[in-house]
Amino acid sequence: MYHNNHNKTIDDYEPIVGANVIDQLRRLADKLSGARVLHVNSTSKGGGVAEILGWMVPILRNLGIDSRWQVIKGDESFFNVTKNFHNALQGVHYEISQEAEKVYKKHNEENASSMNLDSDYVFIHDPQPAPLIEYKTDGIWIWRCHIDISKPYPPVWNFLKGYVTRYNASIFSMPQFAQNLPIPQYLVPPSIDPLSEKNKQLTKEEIAREIDRLKITHDKPILLQVSRFDRFKDPIGVIKAYKLVKKHEDCILVLAGSEATDDPEGPAVLQEVEKYAAEDTDIHILLLPPFSDLQINALQREADIVIQKSLKEGFGLTVTEGMWKGKPVIGGAVGGISMQIKNGVNGYLINSIEGTAYRARQLLHHPDIAANMGYYAQEYVRHNFLLTRHIRDYLSIMIATQHPNETYIQV
Ligand code: UDP
Repeated sequence: MYHNNHNKTIDDYEPIVGANVIDQLRRLADKLSGARVLHVNSTSKGGGVAEILGWMVPILRNLGIDSRWQVIKGDESFFNVTKNFHNALQGVHYEISQEAEKVYKKHNEENASSMNLDSDYVFIHDPQPAPLIEYKTDGIWIWRCHIDISKPYPPVWNFLKGYVTRYNASIFSMPQFAQNLPIPQYLVPPSIDPLSEKNKQLTKEEIAREIDRLKITHDKPILLQVSRFDRFKDPIGVIKAYKLVKKHEDCILVLAGSEATDDPEGPAVLQEVEKYAAEDTDIHILLLPPFSDLQINALQREADIVIQKSLKEGFGLTVTEGMWKGKPVIGGAVGGISMQIKNGVNGYLINSIEGTAYRARQLLHHPDIAANMGYYAQEYVRHNFLLTRHIRDYLSIMIATQHPNETYIQV
C-alpha cells in the first residue's frame, strides 16, 4: 500500500545517537509490547507526513509494536476541499459551503467503510482524515497536526474542532500551534531518518553521478530550495532573492520539487514559477518524480546554501535535511523553521527577499562562517531532530495515555 524501502533496525542508529538513547527506546517499547498502532494520512508520497510515516511504521515494528499505515482515498473534489481547509488553517479566508462539508464527510465515511480501524492506538494525521473519529469503536485516538495552525481562520478551525475534541489527545509540532482544547495536547516536533536514502552519507562519486544525471554543473555556487510547488513555500520569492544575489555573485539556483497527490494547486504554481524564471539558464526547475530521495540527498549535499523561504511552515523537514548535511540554511522566520534555526549560530532566519539575498551573499563571501554554521546545524539536528527522539516522544505519549491520572510514570 505504501512505499517502504526501510530495512533498518533500531540498533543501526546506535553509532549516530549513542547506546543510551537506544536503550531508553527499548525500555519504553517493552511497556507497549504487542500493542497495535495504526497511522492514517492522506498521501503515500510527497510532503513531510508521508516522509515520516515511511520510516516510523517499520521502526515501530522493529521495536515489537504492531504498526500499520493506511492512506485515505479521495477524488479531486475532496482534495480541493481539504487543500482549502489546509490553507484556511494557515490563515487564508475560506467559507465552508454545505457542498464542501458534504464532500468532506462523505469521503471520510466511504474510507471508513473500507478500512480496518481496529487498533489499540490510532494516529490520525492532519485534517483530511479527521472525521474518521466518527467511526471509532475502540482504542486510543490521537489527532496529530503537522501544519502551522498558529493563526487559523476561525470558522474553519471551529468546524474542525468539532472533530478534534472527540479525540483522546492531540499532538502539535510546537507551542505556538497549540490550541484551546479540552483534550490533552502534546508537543512533538518532527524528525528525519539519518539512514534513509534521503539523508544517508553519500560518496563524492555518488553525489557527482546524481548531480550529473540532473544536468547540473557545479561551476558556480549553488543555491537550492527543495519544496512542493506551493505558494506558502514562496518559490517566486526565492527567484527574486537569487536575482538580487546574481547582480553581484554569479551563481545557480535550483528549485526542486515534485507533485504531492493531495495538492491540487501544484501544477498552477509550477507554471507561474517556470514563467517567472523565463530565460535564465542558471535557474534549474526540477520536477522530480516521487521517491527521488537519492537525487534530493545529492542536491542537498552539493548545494553551497540551502534556502527554505517559506511564508508559513508546519516544521520544514527540508530545513532539517539541509542542516543534517552540514549546510548553512537560510529559512523563513516562521513556524517550525524558527525552532530549528538559531539565527546567526546554525543558520539564518529571514523575513524578506532582501534579507535572503543579503544572507546568501554574506555566506558566499565567508566560507568559514558557512562551514561553522553547517557544523552547528548538524549537531543541533543530531540532538533534537532525529527519528530516535521522535519515536521516544510517541512511545511516551502512548504510555501516558494509558495512565491519564498519573503525573510520574516509571520506565
Ligand atoms: N520532498 C521530496 N520531493 C520533492 C519535494 C520535497 O521528497 O520534490 C520531501 C522533502 O525532502 C521533505 C518533504 O518532502 O522531506 C517536505 O517536508 P516539509 O516539512 O519541508 O514540507 P511539506 O511538504 O510537508 O509542507
